[in-house]
Amino acid sequence: MTGAKSTQKILVVDDENLIRQLMSALLASYGDVTVVESGAEALEWAEREQPDLIVLDVQMPEMDGYEVCRRLKENEATSSIPVVFLTANSTNEDEERGLEIGATDFIRKPISPQIVRTRASNILKLQAATRQLELLASTDPLTGAFNRRHFMETGNNELLRSNRYNHAFTVLMLDIDHFKAVNDIHGHNIGDAALKETVRVIEETLRGEDTLGRIGGEEFAVLLPETSVDPATLLAERIRIAISEIVVETPTGPLTFTMSIGMTEGRKSDENIDLLLKRADEGLYMAKEQGRNRVITV
Ligand code: GH3
Ligand code: MG
Ligand code: MG
Repeated sequence: MTGAKSTQKILVVDDENLIRQLMSALLASYGDVTVVESGAEALEWAEREQPDLIVLDVQMPEMDGYEVCRRLKENEATSSIPVVFLTANSTNEDEERGLEIGATDFIRKPISPQIVRTRASNILKLQAATRQLELLASTDPLTGAFNRRHFMETGNNELLRSNRYNHAFTVLMLDIDHFKAVNDIHGHNIGDAALKETVRVIEETLRGEDTLGRIGGEEFAVLLPETSVDPATLLAERIRIAISEIVVETPTGPLTFTMSIGMTEGRKSDENIDLLLKRADEGLYMAKEQGRNRVITV
């Protein structure tokens, strides 16, 4: 969820073993290269592993490169991955067709090592910059949690998916208790440190498929896909207790604080994520009313 620079992934798809070996050797210094020999394998691997570049042979038995590219571009999970076609004696028409279905570039066979390296490296640099921008646009700079816009987008997608597959889906709204007093007593910098610790502790408690967003100043929300109320209650309680155990050192001594949590499970009638958040917010309001530092399900 944070922006640590990692090694870029390259997928090479070609039915010829010799080409696979050659491309692996040529591209090894630019990232982690994985080779597969069929379009079907490529589609599956790309969706799961999210490579930064796909080098795709046009001529392959069963599914040819055009078809693989078309399917990659059709699938939202893989549509933004750049595809470079490997073509043998291609004509302008072939290239036009490739561009039309979303190819980024072409490499001709027989392969020129320098062209392969330069084209791949250019695309990978652009892709790294694009991913960095996407990350900046979707996260809150103070805490690294997703920002409101990205959270709502993810929330609506998760809601659609859970409705389509009839899966449980639970949402939490979380708000730090008496946070104004933390700022008033200790100052804004200590308040900021408390916010960062809050996000760190919540993320530690969540699973990989869960999403944490900073919705407002000291207000957060969590999406728990494929989770019904009972396991969600356990998770919310774990978060609540973990927050109460945070200790922020200040010049006037250790600071501790608590969090109130409202929770609701998705229903068939929920058309968008705002409805769930509104209901979870009612739970949060009740938790505040009833004395704070508690989880209330609506
Ligand atoms: P309650 O228990 O009812 O939630 O009380 P509260 O004091 O937490 O609620 P209130 O909404 O009155 O205060 C929220 C405070 O959060 C006000 C604001 O100073 C603080 N805050 C919001 N964003 C930030 C931030 O980015 N950094 C810091 N340090 N404080 C923030
Ligand atoms: Mg081939
Ligand atoms: Mg508060």
